Amino acid sequence: MTKKIVIGTRNQGKIKEFRAFLADEDVALLSWKDFDYPFSVVEDGKSFWENALKKAELTARITGEVSVADDSGLEITYLGQRPGVFSARYAGPQASDEDNNSKVFQEMRGVPLSERGARFVCAIVMCTPDGRWEWVDGECPGVITESPRGRNGFGYDPLFLVPDLGKTFAELSQEEKNRISHRARAMEKLRPLLKKYFP
Ligand code: IMP
Repeated sequence: MTKKIVIGTRNQGKIKEFRAFLADEDVALLSWKDFDYPFSVVEDGKSFWENALKKAELTARITGEVSVADDSGLEITYLGQRPGVFSARYAGPQASDEDNNSKVFQEMRGVPLSERGARFVCAIVMCTPDGRWEWVDGECPGVITESPRGRNGFGYDPLFLVPDLGKTFAELSQEEKNRISHRARAMEKLRPLLKKYFP
């Protein structure tokens, strides 16, 4: 019998990343898009893993399959780890990526390089239909630039510089970003859980 996992998202970008990551595993990947059910979760958790758990728990319960779900965001040390779990809606409920980036640049104006440290964080929860769950996380450290650089990616990518590479996430190719990103690092830790839940 083929193993089945349902990803707790409708986000095509995330589905693509999970698919690429699990390409060499013998597993059929489905998502909310494959079910005739109005999945919806209020992401009001205080941490990334709490939000990921809400999505994974609902997904496993409704579909009767093992699920995975993630939640991620940007933590800036100088801003007391904000935007954090508010990353998607930092500049307001309907904020665009540009609005959120402008807000960060404004709050970081004049802050010296030595205090511009930040990290992207991603938590992934795997959950079974009978309610057992575990989580893994990954992070990628970087520095907030003074102005946007690069055109690739999404969200805060243009303001997040990876010092070792001298490039922002938005200046990396998808393959380069997938090698070092917070999400890739969390996904790597997911492999042992696959073996555990599908022995
Ligand atoms: P979520 O995991 O879909 O809830 O993402 C939360 C928000 O974090 C996104 O809307 C982005 O603003 C930000 N974010 C998460 N991962 C990334 C990334 O890899 N690059 C840029 N922004 C990200």
